[in-house]
Amino acid sequence: MGRLVVVSNRVADLTKSTQSGGLAVGLADALKRRGGLWVGWSGETSTDADDATPELTTAGNVAMATIPLTPDDYANYYLGFANSVLWPLFHYRLDLVDFHSEFLDSYRKVNRRFADSLLPLLKPNDTIWIHDYHLIPLASELRKRGCTQRIGFFLHIPFPPPEVLAAAPGHKWLADSFLAYDLVGFQTQTDVANLAHYAEDHMQLSAPVDGRMSGPAGDLHLACFPIGIDTQAFAELAASPADDVQVDTMRRMVLDRKQIIGVDRLDYSKGLPDRMKAFGRLLDLYPEHMKKVTFLQIAPPTREDVDAYADIRHELESLSGSINGRFADFNWTPIRYIHRSVAREKLAALYRVSRAGLVTPLRDGMNLVAKEYVAAQNPDDPGVLILSKFAGAAEELAEALIVNPYDIDAMAAAIDRALTMPIEERKERHSALYKRVAEGDALAWQKAFLDALEAAPNGITLDVA
Ligand code: UDP
Repeated sequence: MGRLVVVSNRVADLTKSTQSGGLAVGLADALKRRGGLWVGWSGETSTDADDATPELTTAGNVAMATIPLTPDDYANYYLGFANSVLWPLFHYRLDLVDFHSEFLDSYRKVNRRFADSLLPLLKPNDTIWIHDYHLIPLASELRKRGCTQRIGFFLHIPFPPPEVLAAAPGHKWLADSFLAYDLVGFQTQTDVANLAHYAEDHMQLSAPVDGRMSGPAGDLHLACFPIGIDTQAFAELAASPADDVQVDTMRRMVLDRKQIIGVDRLDYSKGLPDRMKAFGRLLDLYPEHMKKVTFLQIAPPTREDVDAYADIRHELESLSGSINGRFADFNWTPIRYIHRSVAREKLAALYRVSRAGLVTPLRDGMNLVAKEYVAAQNPDDPGVLILSKFAGAAEELAEALIVNPYDIDAMAAAIDRALTMPIEERKERHSALYKRVAEGDALAWQKAFLDALEAAPNGITLDVA
């Protein structure tokens, strides 16, 4: 078996012994098993980036190659096309798409630049695995340069329905780029169906049979591989809580106060304003929870250079302020809102001591927080996961309390149900959820994708326009 070459926008530092996310753990395992190369943006910008050669570091049998971006490409490719066009579009938010033709030009240019940098580093029997929306056209650029190795693609975020995709300038070009892959993987069956419908309607491909479609322009092989976390490691992390979390938990026990937790990057896709409103409705509709519950929302900043993110921040600050202003007492703050990143060890401990986990995105590729919350629970006294039906995780985690994140009263009712759920029901739901999160962990995800890619017929050389 040849090497694995992973390409993603950012590269995890494999020289560090502990990896933060499940994705890094899953990919690091595959890279170390086969030996390999991980290529991505260095996170740096410089005006002479276009002439820079990749910076190489090695950790055992794995090499990492990173490439800088020019300041213009950072603005137009990264903040622009990737995060102001594709991110909102793929999350079904056409209202937030901010398209400029220079964004698309820069996206194409950066993908060409990645292909130019990667090509000399490849070996004939490498398997290439490209990740996420930043790099969709990379395989077609590699094919144009004569690359015949197997190339797979995995999309970590949702894929929109054809009517939504078709509203974006360049949509046909973008979708045609998928033809250059031997396998295209998605988080959910909904995402697979969305690209399949688009391909039938706009690319003249046949209806899918076992995930395979074909037509005059080429073949498409689609499948769903729900991503997982490093379940066991996360459960162990949660079982050894930090001292300050223990002290806070004891204080709440004395006061007979339950905690609800939400953990999300401060992104408009996460449904944070409606979630806060639902907590406010809970206090209106079920006043017996007054002073008996606190809502801890951790929402670290992200992509603050994009306007839509500044807007959501202001909205949330004002909402949490007004709900607290309305309900708080001198000895009780209903909402604790933290606009900072919290370390994984602390998060794990906080999930474990929270009676309910509120995961209510308006649209999400998977949502790893949902799986982390399940992994972190004490099986003898587990909390209840409240999960949006629009999170990818809802396809797998049916024993959660599934909610419509647009229906504020229904969310308030679900929170009340979680807070009052008998222990037997909590245990039953949790054990079913834990089993699924443990079976479908990050290693299983990575193995399933790579097995399917290795089994795919090899050698697409088509010349995609
Ligand atoms: N996370 C973290 N600290 C924080 C907030 C989030 O470590 O303060 C982690 C969280 O534990 C999870 C990831 O960030 O592993 C978020 O992944 P998810 O799939 O839920 O959402 P994304 O941010 O990828 O949209």
